[in-house]
Amino acid sequence: MTPESTTNGAAGAPRPRVNVDEYLILNKYAVDEENPHIRLAELPDRAAVERLARVCPAGLYRVDEDGVPQFDYAGCLECGTCRIVAEGGAVASWRYPGPTMGIEYRYG
Ligand code: SF4
Repeated sequence: MTPESTTNGAAGAPRPRVNVDEYLILNKYAVDEENPHIRLAELPDRAAVERLARVCPAGLYRVDEDGVPQFDYAGCLECGTCRIVAEGGAVASWRYPGPTMGIEYRYG
């Protein structure tokens, strides 16, 4: 096994390691600065934001060193995971970006 590969669990077959960041950086974003397509609640529950930080594939949710929830919708993959997990709670509102805005996938 090389450093670039790992085993595939019980099957034991080698598979290449994938660096997701290498693919994400290829995407193009048109961020609608005036109209966030996702809004965090005014006072979101910290535990809920920590949960969102674990499930968001783009890593856009976090709780800073002072315990303050942070979120930036720029870089959103529009996967909808946070909507399913927390809409109506920590996520106050979620919609797709307007026409010509949002992510333009360059790979896959
Ligand atoms: S839609 Fe997906 S990528 Fe965008 S903020 Fe929610 S979980 Fe993250």
